[in-house]
Amino acid sequence: MSENTFVVEKICPVCEKPTRIVKTRSRLNLLRRDEDGYVQFENFNPCYYTVWICEHCGYAADEKTFTSTFAERHLKILRNALLNRNIKIPFTEERTLENAATSFRLALKFLEILKGKSSKRAKYAHQLAWIFREAGDKVQETEFLTKAAEFYEDALATERFPIDTLTDNTVIYVLAAIYWRLGEQQKTTTYLSQLINDKELRQTDPRIYDKARDLWRDIRDAKKQSGSRK
Ligand SMILES: [Zn+2]
Repeated sequence: MSENTFVVEKICPVCEKPTRIVKTRSRLNLLRRDEDGYVQFENFNPCYYTVWICEHCGYAADEKTFTSTFAERHLKILRNALLNRNIKIPFTEERTLENAATSFRLALKFLEILKGKSSKRAKYAHQLAWIFREAGDKVQETEFLTKAAEFYEDALATERFPIDTLTDNTVIYVLAAIYWRLGEQQKTTTYLSQLINDKELRQTDPRIYDKARDLWRDIRDAKKQSGSRK
């Protein structure tokens, strides 16, 4: 039992059995917000529960994917991959870091099998990086930030935006923020200047424009502090 979660029952789209799903409550105390979108709450990380897992067949996806209807050929692929394998992911209401990491790895795996959208794979990889950041695991954070950046770049090149509420300018900003975290100044600057040099952005998306300016300032301050060092 946790004060931040509760359990509901949903039908798994792959095996069609009812499975328990953990949902999170939204009243949380915010502690910190990073430039790439990571938000830290007091004693709880809702990202741990982004991915729903079927306790019978092991299918894993975010709420939106889990609850929407599949194309028949996708269902066939997933059923072939899952139903005879006896993959059992034990249900747990309170996920550990390891449980949460497994859930993202599974969700990424299924998207790979289905040749799913890079924008969605980017979101999973990015959130997985965040849970490692929170846990202080720099190595795995870097691994998944790098993956997230690759997926976001592929999404920019191949997908049509906006995707739900995600705009291409948001993705460009997030790429700048991720590369900043990864210490890749050249790439950070390239993406940021796309936003800052966009004369219309200030009117069309002032929120992203301001965030880009803030990050630009942080980078200049950091450069000043490090003097001539690269
Ligand atoms: Zn299932």
